[in-house]
Amino acid sequence: MSHKAQVIIIGSGIVGCAAAYHLTQFGWKDVLLIDKGELFENDGSTSHAPGGVVPLSHNKLMTQFGVYTADLIASLEHFRSDRNTYNLGGQLEMAISEARWQDLIRLHGSSKAYGCESHLLTPQETQEKLPLLAAEQIVGSLFVPKGMIVKGADVSAALARDAEATGGARFVGHTAMTDIEVKNGQVTAVLTNNPDMPRIACEQVLLCANIWAPALTEKLGVALPLMAFEHQYSITEPLAKLANFDRSDKDQEVTYPTARELDSAMYFRQHWDAYGIGSYWHKPHMVRPRDVKKTAMHPFTPEDFFGEPWDQAQRLMPALRGAEFETQFNGMFAFSVD
Ligand SMILES: Cc1cc2nc3c(=O)[nH]c(=O)nc-3n(C[C@H](O)[C@H](O)[C@H](O)COP(=O)(O)OP(=O)(O)OC[C@H]3O[C@@H](n4cnc5c(N)ncnc54)[C@H](O)[C@@H]3O)c2cc1C
Repeated sequence: MSHKAQVIIIGSGIVGCAAAYHLTQFGWKDVLLIDKGELFENDGSTSHAPGGVVPLSHNKLMTQFGVYTADLIASLEHFRSDRNTYNLGGQLEMAISEARWQDLIRLHGSSKAYGCESHLLTPQETQEKLPLLAAEQIVGSLFVPKGMIVKGADVSAALARDAEATGGARFVGHTAMTDIEVKNGQVTAVLTNNPDMPRIACEQVLLCANIWAPALTEKLGVALPLMAFEHQYSITEPLAKLANFDRSDKDQEVTYPTARELDSAMYFRQHWDAYGIGSYWHKPHMVRPRDVKKTAMHPFTPEDFFGEPWDQAQRLMPALRGAEFETQFNGMFAFSVD
């Protein structure tokens, strides 16, 4: 393999792979992506995130990005035959307060202007889409049909596959960037820990290394305005109410829309006969660049979850009452300073 490239992308998460895909779509012919671990499914956030694609927001540009993303993903050939790269279940934004309901009514108005279909639903109509919901707990909801759940690592891999098929991009795993060589203010090479390609000459470097990025640029004297924060995700044991869902059937993994209850900073995602609960309802756990280690996952902090967030989850979905958990962790991803 040639030890040079026009641009080297660092990181095979969703961001690096989307960048490689789009560069090749724009006609770039010499893109090399490297990752410190396995390609696509690895220690990065993309591999453990539950994969909610939320197309609609109050911001027009973000909505256009969201709709473009949902359409692009839905146009991809599934990456593996044994699991779905994406599931088109739709998205439910639920209001538990009058103020949030007014917010959703405004968002519905914006959605028409932004070209993203949405529907205001009564509590009963919401419950028809999400039978586990206690309808009396909400004022109403906004349903966005384009919302989906993806297997992030498979979307990354599918984008990489299609980028590679153009002949313009190469992907190499187990190759960590250790430094960037700069001469006269110009990037000249990426140095790696791979003995087969310790120095890769290049013209540009695109750093898509998420929480690892600030520590990588620190040695170049570049302070990236990014900080890793933890975010909790919990998956229950199988729930009696969902016993009819068959884990061997990939089409039964996500059949209900993913639901967000924004006043409590929580969301709910089906995993066949179990439920995933994402919660931002905890004190912020900031992780300094030097404290970011091999993986983007930290141990679960139960004190952040058991109490108000878990009580609210059980109020909204009584089928969760008394559930035990199969998996719980604090994932990490990078947030910009704003
Ligand atoms: C619990 C949880 C739930 C989430 N839910 C959602 C959701 O529903 N919807 C949503 O849109 N987002 C969600 N997110 C956020 C989302 O997962 C991240 O924003 C996204 O995955 C970041 O992608 P990335 O490509 O930047 O990073 P990553 O996937 O972390 O990829 C970075 C890559 O860089 C590689 N790398 C690092 N250092 C080096 C090096 N020196 N050399 C070579 N390679 C290197 C890593 O190995 C890794 O593969 C969630 C995050 C968490 C933690």
